[in-house]
Amino acid sequence: MERYEPLKIEQKWQKKWEETEAFKATEVKGQPKVMLAEMFPYPSGAGLHVGHVRNFTIVDVLTRFFRQQGLNVMRPFGYDTFGLPAENYAIKTGTAPQEVTAVNITNFRKQAKKLGYAIDWSREINTSDPEYYRWTQWCFLQLFKKGLAYQKESYQWWCPEDQTVLANEQVENGKCWRCGHEVEKKKMKQWFFKITEYADELLDEIDNLEWPEKIKTMQKNWIGKSVGAEIDFEVEGGAPKIKVFTTRPDTILGATFLVLAPEYVGLEYIVSEDCKDAVAKYKAAALKKSEIERQENKEKTGVFTGAYAINPATKEKIPIYVADYVLAGYGTGAIMAVPAYDERDREFAEKLDLPIVEAELIDRDAYGTPKVTYRMRDWLISRQRYWGCPIPIAYDKDGNPHAISEDQLPVMLPEVKDYKPDKSGRSALAKAKDWLTVEIPVKDPKTGEVHMKKMTRETDTLDGYACSSWYLWRYASPRDDKAAWDEKAISYWEPLDYYCGGDHAVAHLLYIRFWCKFFADEGYLPFREPIKRLLYNGYINAPDGKKMSKSKGNVIDPLDVINDGYGADTLRTYEMFIGPYDMDAAWDTRSVGGVYRFLNRCYNLCFGNTSKVDKNVVVRNKTIKKVTEDIHRYSFNTAVAALMEYVNELYKNGASKEDLMVLAKLLKPFAPHLASEMLEKLDSDDEWPKWDEKYLVADTVELVVQVNGKLRAKFEIEVDDLEDEEKLTEMVLADERVKKYTEKGVKKTIFVKKNKLINIVV
Ligand SMILES: [Zn+2]
Repeated sequence: MERYEPLKIEQKWQKKWEETEAFKATEVKGQPKVMLAEMFPYPSGAGLHVGHVRNFTIVDVLTRFFRQQGLNVMRPFGYDTFGLPAENYAIKTGTAPQEVTAVNITNFRKQAKKLGYAIDWSREINTSDPEYYRWTQWCFLQLFKKGLAYQKESYQWWCPEDQTVLANEQVENGKCWRCGHEVEKKKMKQWFFKITEYADELLDEIDNLEWPEKIKTMQKNWIGKSVGAEIDFEVEGGAPKIKVFTTRPDTILGATFLVLAPEYVGLEYIVSEDCKDAVAKYKAAALKKSEIERQENKEKTGVFTGAYAINPATKEKIPIYVADYVLAGYGTGAIMAVPAYDERDREFAEKLDLPIVEAELIDRDAYGTPKVTYRMRDWLISRQRYWGCPIPIAYDKDGNPHAISEDQLPVMLPEVKDYKPDKSGRSALAKAKDWLTVEIPVKDPKTGEVHMKKMTRETDTLDGYACSSWYLWRYASPRDDKAAWDEKAISYWEPLDYYCGGDHAVAHLLYIRFWCKFFADEGYLPFREPIKRLLYNGYINAPDGKKMSKSKGNVIDPLDVINDGYGADTLRTYEMFIGPYDMDAAWDTRSVGGVYRFLNRCYNLCFGNTSKVDKNVVVRNKTIKKVTEDIHRYSFNTAVAALMEYVNELYKNGASKEDLMVLAKLLKPFAPHLASEMLEKLDSDDEWPKWDEKYLVADTVELVVQVNGKLRAKFEIEVDDLEDEEKLTEMVLADERVKKYTEKGVKKTIFVKKNKLINIVV
């Protein structure tokens, strides 16, 4: 008999799948469909890591499972290619990010193919491909036309040394990541998407989704709806009134001071002359902190403005403070502090020795206008970076933004030599002088005539999350050059049935829901939620339980597992066996070897001698049921464990051809190459097997015992025990009810399995 040689088998089947385009998906009217996808990866230079393999294999197990059940399955693939790593590499080395990305994609694709994924490679997409980002720009323009893409002044991280805007992730401990200089916040005009317009619907529809509860809760908290009231407070000395937002207007009698966010608009009109320096200093320090830092439960800080407001309920004079625990974007950026009822207010009051008054509660509407606010802000989408999708906007002489016309798309990323941001804080796109000027058609509002007008292009690029907010729809018609997605194809395939990933609980997963609702409103999508089921997988850690990282030197390279001779099937099956898919797990090299031995046993059973007797019918049916149900509930690790137990039984009892066909079919989602080899040997298709309830309904049966043909005892036994004559006979002969008839000695025992009967001859 030949030996199990995974690399040989895997190459053979991968070649076959490639040549026959085995996983190409086409719409078939009337055939039920399933569409599955992972959160598409950023193709880094390091290639696939063990986390990718877990993520992609979960999708693959389900893909193959549904294919074997006869459903019309689509499993596409793509790359999220814009972003920082390629840009940093470009700044350092001068290599165009386009080139680096192309190399990385080639490597990623090669590795994914080595894992035997059932991917429809004709649907591969890449967000930095102009044929793709042309439609990202089209999406932007639809939002712009409806006023949902707009500009406003906003505070940005700014490095005074480099003279550039920095993203949140480019600020480390309040310092610039490039030069180490202390950063500051600077007010700049930025682009936003008005996601807040959909806050209520995003919140209300969460509960209808088949998503993990923890993700739903995170989204709810992110949206952070608060029902409360706005109340006006007069300021002593004639400064403009302060409008506060509170969720507890009924506690106003206990409001003993006001607190403003450091960014509060109009703060300068409130602060008294002698407090100006202290407030300015405090504000500068506060602007260096992130909102997360400000909300952390640290010791409260703040400064007095020197001004007083009048509590409209008590008519008392109360001091006005500035403190960074109040955020500008929450409500109005001003609160009435009620230290007797609010913990953070109390901490602040205790710190600054302010009065805490336990007052009675009053009617909620007595002084307040009812008001609902959200924690979620509009989504800031402009980036002063080169390696992103250009924003399809140009400015006239007066600085007014105009849409590039749709037939002028894509706005191509211009070629530059130096990828560093411009000294003015603009991206490197500003250095492409020829590209900067554009003529776009503008309609004269008086005459209605259209003239070409010279304008200057926007040099900001889009947040990468914009590119990933619609990619699932591109999968429906990835080569379409007439539209972002084809109406007919998308209504057949989507919404997506299964989405799997281990990241982006709020950002991406919220943004894609927002775009879906918008494009549904515009009549472009026939559904309002893009993802039916979400599988949120856990991480794989190093053998020592710590996060894998290059610096710790504890990274496991999945390709090593394949190349060491274990093969892709072992790697895939091991990563499904490692633990519940939604929990973090530590890599265990010994257990990889265990899985490899299990697959070896499968091979040996199949390519060894088969048993003519069908002894395993009960365990076989039980295993079909268990594996089927386990995959349905995403319990992949217990499904693999059930297959291991099944193989143990087959080793003990001998395996019939039927046993082996079932084994190969159930194994195929996990170890598709080996299973295909087994099915070929057995001359079998891969149709998912069904179990027969009759072997499972009664777990116990009645065994009748006769002595010399006369009924002497009945036993309740497990169905499985009918397979073991020796064990049954031993048990029966040891029983007191039988013993008294067999004292003279047993001549022989006759077991009739189909009648569930043992006859003892004495
Ligand atoms: Zn710097």
